[in-house]
Amino acid sequence: MRAFTYERASSVEAAAKTVASNPEAMFIAGGTNLLDLMKLEIEAPAHLVDVNGLGLDKIEITPGGGLRIGALVTNTDLAAHEVVRRDYGLLSRAIVAGASGQLRNKATTAGNLLQRTRCPYFYDTNQPCNKRQPGTGCSAIGGFSRPLAVVGVSDACIASHPSDMAIAMRAFDATVETVKADGSRRSIPIADFHRLPGDTPHIDTVLERGEFITAVLLPPPIGGKQIYRKVRDRASYAFALVSVGAVIQPDGTGRVAIGGVAPKPWRVEAAEAELPNGASAATDVILADARPTEQNSFKVELVERTLGAVLAEARG
Ligand SMILES: Cc1cc2nc3c(=O)[nH]c(=O)nc-3n(C[C@H](O)[C@H](O)[C@H](O)COP(=O)(O)OP(=O)(O)OC[C@H]3O[C@@H](n4cnc5c(N)ncnc54)[C@H](O)[C@@H]3O)c2cc1C
Ligand code: SF4
Repeated sequence: MRAFTYERASSVEAAAKTVASNPEAMFIAGGTNLLDLMKLEIEAPAHLVDVNGLGLDKIEITPGGGLRIGALVTNTDLAAHEVVRRDYGLLSRAIVAGASGQLRNKATTAGNLLQRTRCPYFYDTNQPCNKRQPGTGCSAIGGFSRPLAVVGVSDACIASHPSDMAIAMRAFDATVETVKADGSRRSIPIADFHRLPGDTPHIDTVLERGEFITAVLLPPPIGGKQIYRKVRDRASYAFALVSVGAVIQPDGTGRVAIGGVAPKPWRVEAAEAELPNGASAATDVILADARPTEQNSFKVELVERTLGAVLAEARG
């Protein structure tokens, strides 16, 4: 691992300024993804800015009746919060479907949204990977692609986004609140937060250099039956091959976001009009532009079956 210097941030603004002005600096929150990447020298920051201890670990009800989740709230605390369990059950279920208890105790809300792909070639520094080293090529195309994306992909990268939590955030239309180095703030709808790879797959999100996430906001509760179903190779401690996060209302309408199939949490609003017509009709729209590989074409049917199971569970 490359040697690095370390500081505890004194304020949000100071943290943003330090990282914006030093191309070799990075924020560290729980460290559960970043430290793994540093050990493999996939990330090699010369300076770490520890953003724990800035008071961003609170969950508050907003004046509009929604929820403001501090960026440093741990996954454990978020999943266990009584309002989250009662009104945003999908979020709670998605979080506990991920990682392990120990990891969730450290992993934070912002860090979870920003975790990098689990494409095996991204972690294998002996192999070409456009996301890790732009312009070197994509080893997964024509290589081992079983766990990777089938939709939203490009000729440069077919990586899937690994977060379970983000699927629920997408279904709830969350907003990511940030502070830039110049002190200005912005609110980014979760739908626009993660990027598709195009020909720049090394850029995962729309965040600018040094832009710091302070919170994630959820709109007021939308009720409905809230289900998270994750299909994976092992019953626990594994990333999704396919996951379905759904909020289904008593009349059969609802919202659906899909994990494991795209470079970002995948929600196609137009497909939701098809939900009362069943999983097959909705999946046709959700995966309309799918470009699966030979190894991961099974995911197309798996989405339909998983969504079918979710809709059946919602009907009781
Ligand atoms: C073995 C293992 C299994 C896992 N299984 C799952 C799983 O099944 N499902 C799942 O969803 N996840 C899984 N995870 C991933 C885990 O959820 C993430 O590693 C974790 O959520 C990252 O959060 P963190 O706070 O530790 O981020 P860190 O590792 O500290 O940071 C991640 C990135 O976010 C940046 N960052 C952190 N905070 C901020 C901020 N406030 N503003 C701007 N940038 C910031 C950092 O600079 C870094 O680039 C697994 C991880 C491991 C190691
Ligand atoms: S799919 Fe993306 S992350 Fe995986 S090898 Fe190709 S470029 Fe790298």
